[in-house]
Amino acid sequence: MVIFVAKKNGKKKKKNNKKKNLYFVITAIVLIIIAAALTIYVVATNKKGDNTEIAYTELIREIGDGNVEKVEMTTGSTTVKVKLKDETDERKCIVPNTQAFVELIQSKVEDGNNIELNQKKPNVFITIFSNLFTLLPTILLVVLFVMLFKLQGLGDKSKVYDTETTKSKITFGDVAGLDEEKQEMIEIVDFLKNPDKFYEMGAKIPRGVLLCGKPGTGKTLIAKAIAGEANVPFISMSGSEFIEMFAGLGASRVRKLFEKAKKIAPCIVFIDEIDAVGSRRTSGSGAESENNQTLNQLLVEMDGFDTEETIIVLAATNRPEMLDKALLRPGRFDRQINIALPDLNGREAILKIHAKDKKFAENIDLKNIAEDTAGFSGAELANILNEAAIIATINKHNAITNKDIEDATKKVTIGIEKHSRVVSEKDKKLTAYHEAGHAIVSSQLETQKDIKEVSIIPRGVAGGYTMYKSNEDKYYISKTEMEEKLVSLLGGRAAEKIALNDISTGASNDIEVATQIAKDMIVKYGMSDDLGPIYIDTEKDPYELQLFGEKFGDAVGAEVKIMIDNAYVKAQKLILNNMDKLNKVAEALIEKEIISAEEFQDLIRE
Ligand code: ADP
Repeated sequence: MVIFVAKKNGKKKKKNNKKKNLYFVITAIVLIIIAAALTIYVVATNKKGDNTEIAYTELIREIGDGNVEKVEMTTGSTTVKVKLKDETDERKCIVPNTQAFVELIQSKVEDGNNIELNQKKPNVFITIFSNLFTLLPTILLVVLFVMLFKLQGLGDKSKVYDTETTKSKITFGDVAGLDEEKQEMIEIVDFLKNPDKFYEMGAKIPRGVLLCGKPGTGKTLIAKAIAGEANVPFISMSGSEFIEMFAGLGASRVRKLFEKAKKIAPCIVFIDEIDAVGSRRTSGSGAESENNQTLNQLLVEMDGFDTEETIIVLAATNRPEMLDKALLRPGRFDRQINIALPDLNGREAILKIHAKDKKFAENIDLKNIAEDTAGFSGAELANILNEAAIIATINKHNAITNKDIEDATKKVTIGIEKHSRVVSEKDKKLTAYHEAGHAIVSSQLETQKDIKEVSIIPRGVAGGYTMYKSNEDKYYISKTEMEEKLVSLLGGRAAEKIALNDISTGASNDIEVATQIAKDMIVKYGMSDDLGPIYIDTEKDPYELQLFGEKFGDAVGAEVKIMIDNAYVKAQKLILNNMDKLNKVAEALIEKEIISAEEFQDLIRE
C-alpha cells in the first residue's frame, strides 16, 4: 500500500441530538413494554368474563331474588360485572341503558316498587378506575406518538426553539492562520457593532456571507468568532435539519428561525451545510418540491429584513457550485469567503493554538509536524494533537513526545498498528517485496523519491505501507508527477511478479488508486494528447460520458489502459534494473519490519 495523504473526513457529531435520541428510544421502549403488558392483562381479564355472561333480564331477576352480592359498573361502559352469591367467578352483563339500570336497581331496592324485592339490596360499585385502566394502553400509545411527532419537530413549537443560541466566547485569537480572510471578518464585526456609521454613509449592510471550504477548515469556528468579537448572540442550525419528511415543515422552520433572530437582533445566524436546502430548485415533486419550498422561504426571509435589523446570515458549504443562483444575488449571499486548507504556516499556527493546553516534552517541533501534514484540515490537526495526548497518557509518558505525535499522525492517516495480527512467513515475505517494490521504484523517480518510512507492520486495513514525505505545499501537480505516481503505485505489483513469480490481492488498492488517477488525468485535467483538454464530470453525472458518444467513451477507456500499461512496464523495468537493492530492502524489512528514511537511503546507496 502506498500512502500519500490519506485522510479521514471527520464528520461533526451531533452529540446533543444523539443523547436526546437515546433518551427517546429508552422512554419509547419502556412505554411500549408497559402498554403491551397492560394490553395482555386487560385482554386476559376480559376473556375470563366472556365465558360467563348473564342476560340482562336474568340479572334483573337475580337481583329481585336477592341472589346478587355485588354489581360493578364502569362509567362510560355498558358492560357491568356481576357477582352472584352462590358463584365464585364474576359474570358479565351488557346493560342496554346504564342510567336506567342504576335507577332501577336502587329504586327497587329502596322502594320495592316494580319488582318484588324481599332480599337485601346488592352492593353497587360505580367506578371509573377500571375504565381508565383499560384505556391505559391507548393513552400510552398516544403519548408515544406525541413524543414521536415532537421529535420530528411537529410539536406545538418547531425545533427552531432547539437551535443553539449562544453568546460565543470564541474570538479571532482562537482562529489560526486565515489572515486575509480575517480582514473580511473584521469588517463584518464592524457592521454588527456600529451599524449606524454605515447607514449614515448610505451603505447597505451585507445580509449574507457564504463561507466556502472543505469540512474541518474552521467555517463554524469563524462564524462563532465573528459573533464573539461583535459580542452578539449566535443562532445556528444545519441545513439538513430543514429538510423534513412532512411537507411545509422546512419552510416553517426557516420562518421561525428568522422570527427568533429578529427578536434578538443584532445577531449572527449560522446555517451549516446550506447546500442541503439551497441546492438548485427543480421542477420535481415530493421531497424536491419540499426542498424548493424551504429554499423559497429562505429567499423571502433574506429579502424581508428591515434595514434597522442587524442580522448577518453566515452560511457554510463545501459545494458553492451546487447552490441555487437566486441565493447568490445581491442582498442575499452576495459575499463569499473561501477558506482553503491551511498551508505550512497555517498548519503550524493551528498546531500552536491546539498545543496551548497540552503538556509537551521540550524538544517538540511543531514546524516538523506541520511539514508532514500537507493537505490536513484544521480539524484533523487538532485531532492529531488530541490523539497524541491520549497515546502519551496510555504509555504513561510525563509529557507528549515526538514519537507520540508521529504515532498519532499514522493512527489518523492509516489506522492503528495491529501487532496482534498473526502474519505467516509467506505473507510477510510477500508484503516485504511488495513494499520494497514501491520504495525501490519510487527512489528511481525524481518526483517520488522522498520516502519517509517503509513498514510491513499491519496498520488499519493495510498489510504494510510506504510513506512519503509531503513537506511541500503544492497548488498544482504536473503531468510528469502524476505519471510517475502511477509507476510507483504499480511498483508493488511489479516486485511481487518479478521476485516471487506470483501476484497477490495486496495490490488491489494501488491499482484502484492508479486507475482513478489515470481517469482523472484524461477526463478531469485534459492531459491526454489524443483526446485533448476536455472535462467530463462523471462524479456529478455518471452518464455524462455517454453524451460524447460511444466512440469517445471507448477512446477514454483505451487511453486509461495505455497509461496504466505504460506505467506497469516502466515499474517492471525499474525493478529488473535494481534487483539487488530490492532484495536488500525486502530482507531488511523481513528482519526489522520497519525502516526509516535514513536506513532506506543507506541500504540503496552502494
Ligand atoms: P467546519 O465548520 O469548516 O467543518 P469547524 O469550524 O467545525 O470546521 O472546525 C472544527 C475544529 O477544527 C474547530 O473547532 C477547531 O478546533 C479546529 N480548527 C479548524 N480550523 C481552525 C483554525 N483555522 N484555527 C484553529 N482551529 C481550527
